[in-house]
Amino acid sequence: MATYKVGGEVDALCTRCKLTLAHTILAMVGTKIARVRCNTCGGDHTYRSAPGSTDRASPSARSSSARAPSAPRAERPEKVVISFEEQLAGKDIANAPKYSPKDAYQLDQVIQHPTFGLGLVTAVRGDKVDIAFKAETKTLVHGRGGASAEKPVFSPPSARATGPADKPLSPSTTEADTAAPPATPPAED
Ligand SMILES: [Zn+2]
Repeated sequence: MATYKVGGEVDALCTRCKLTLAHTILAMVGTKIARVRCNTCGGDHTYRSAPGSTDRASPSARSSSARAPSAPRAERPEKVVISFEEQLAGKDIANAPKYSPKDAYQLDQVIQHPTFGLGLVTAVRGDKVDIAFKAETKTLVHGRGGASAEKPVFSPPSARATGPADKPLSPSTTEADTAAPPATPPAED
């Protein structure tokens, strides 16, 4: 509760007006308001804390203020739910290029995918594009036209460097090793 003082104003329930109104504080007991005067009807009466006790007291004001607080900031949904046909409406579907990972695409571009059909580019992130198809949204690669697309995109750095190749082959170890065979026999192809 805020700090009140005699002569100050406080919202209180007026017993005569039957409304929550501004009152002037007439007397206090400690930090509690003891007596108030209604600024509207001028009547003195014991202070009665304003809201809650009676539903009659300006119900409209309460309901409107109750749902007013800071609007949720996440009003914007991730994707506006409109039909796929609506999304494609006005697009140049007739000239939609066939999807190819070699080509680069732009936002809102319509493409024709051999498997998924018509799609609308909804996001471009580097070499990936999100394309909304009728069934679902797929993330595909694009802009890979520079190099041969047949090559694997990445090759593990030391895929072929197997352990035994690093060791010097000593042909004279056959007899010495018989006592202690290696725990892991060399893998044969
Ligand atoms: Zn009053």
